[in-house]
Amino acid sequence: RLYGAGRRNSAGHDLSQLDVRKKFAAALKSLDDGPAFAAGAIVSGKPETGGGELVRMPAETGRALGALKEADADEIDRALDAATKFQPEWDQLGGSKRAEHLRAMGDVLEANAAQLIALMSREAGKTLPDGIAEVREAVDFCRYYAQQAEQDFAAPVRLPGPTGETNHLSLHGRGVFCCISPWNFPLAIFTGQIAAALAAGNTVVAKPAEQTGLTAFEAVRLFHKAGLPGDALHLLPGRGETVGAALTGDLRVSGVCFTGGTSTARMINRTLAGRDGPIIPLIAETGGLNGLFVDTTALREQVIDDIIISAFGSAGQRCSALRIAFVPNATADHLIDGLIGAMNELALGDPALPQTDTGPVIDADARKALEAHMERMTREAKVLHQLDAGKLGEEGYGFGPALVELSSLDQISEETFGPVLHILRYDPDNVAVLASALKAKGYGLTLGIHSRLESFHNAVKTACPVGNTYVNRSMIGAVVGVQPFGGEGLSGTGPKAGGPHYLHRFATERVVSVNI
Ligand code: NAP
Repeated sequence: RLYGAGRRNSAGHDLSQLDVRKKFAAALKSLDDGPAFAAGAIVSGKPETGGGELVRMPAETGRALGALKEADADEIDRALDAATKFQPEWDQLGGSKRAEHLRAMGDVLEANAAQLIALMSREAGKTLPDGIAEVREAVDFCRYYAQQAEQDFAAPVRLPGPTGETNHLSLHGRGVFCCISPWNFPLAIFTGQIAAALAAGNTVVAKPAEQTGLTAFEAVRLFHKAGLPGDALHLLPGRGETVGAALTGDLRVSGVCFTGGTSTARMINRTLAGRDGPIIPLIAETGGLNGLFVDTTALREQVIDDIIISAFGSAGQRCSALRIAFVPNATADHLIDGLIGAMNELALGDPALPQTDTGPVIDADARKALEAHMERMTREAKVLHQLDAGKLGEEGYGFGPALVELSSLDQISEETFGPVLHILRYDPDNVAVLASALKAKGYGLTLGIHSRLESFHNAVKTACPVGNTYVNRSMIGAVVGVQPFGGEGLSGTGPKAGGPHYLHRFATERVVSVNI
């Protein structure tokens, strides 16, 4: 059965076309030449700006894009009150009307794609292809959840009435959903969480990552401009330990959707467990320690291409990114030679230029953590190769992609969030043992397999079950409605974003039985 047949994903932009590149260059120029941003909370559709912290660019830290004011206690309180009051009206609007709002959100993002891509490139260090994919994904989330709101939330489902009564089941919003998002997908994940919560009949208070508050501010402004009621969605930017903690601890919040690190998810889980009042759901989408198993039947050029994009695309700052490649003893030297050659071809630089493959990492803390990891790897493992970040490293938070050879899987047990690829040589006859050992680390997000043998695919998949397995292709770039995305274990609670079951976790079910 083909689920979702007839639906189309958004088309994106073809960077090989000169007029497309010109359009992006013009959007960037207008951003660079335009006035500095003044952003802050948006409560009931009204921006609360003025003052705040300067927002610097990861690719050129000497330049500020504008200023972002953190939401204060009064703004948080007003947003929660307004969202609580409006929620029953939003729920009663019904799935079909809410779907119209969601489609309008998708359309306005698509219409403003060039400006948003320029902004993400400056604020989050996104390359142009990554920015294009990001807008597409955000648009797809809006349209996919719109379709589901129409299918599942528009009318009650009639159930059997064996004793003569009528029984109807309907889905409703839970109340106010708190959506907490990371900086690495500042538009797609930010929008996806919000669109899902809104589609299911919740109102939303959204807390974006502190690093990417401007992108979130622009997106919410566009959503309201496209007709979304101001009280349906409130933006509360700021730090996790202040704004995030205030929201998750507040009894007016009836559900939390969180994407970010595993340790932050644990912290939020503890906060929710410690609250009085109703027990509320936490949807957590967290990190991964993602492996790729290669055997001797795999095609070398394809393996190298897929490893390079999976490990170093987006500067390795994707939850799905490849962290450990298991390469067969028999072909390891030849593969490693090829990988080093391909790494040397990567263009590091200004993410806003079409020729750039790898931009900066997000901030000073991220670079420091990567440097500390490399110091440990130098002592405990073997650094085979690392590119020089050059000008990007001097002017911004550039970090040279690195290749490290492990001698044992024990040398790594946590996600390293950046462009560091670990290699471990192994005997493919023992693949099940090693795949089980990887699974035993507790994560379960993505898995790669490169082999022409179905028996090998099955051995790896069985020993290391994860949320998203990719065979003979790269491990990144899940498409909404096509590869619903999300992990298990330390990688998340499920359900999968962009999949058929996602909205149900944001909803509550009610049954009405009538004896006529
Ligand atoms: P993070 O540090 O966990 O932050 C995520 C969000 O949580 C941010 O908005 C953060 O605010 C907020 N936060 C921090 N402490 C909080 C608290 N006590 N209460 C409430 N909110 C709090 O993660 P990140 O560095 O932004 O993102 C990278 C991580 O996300 C990686 O581990 C990656 O694998 C994971 N990720 C997972 C998926 C997936 O779908 N599974 C997708 C993308 C990313 P601040 O702005 O103050 O930090």
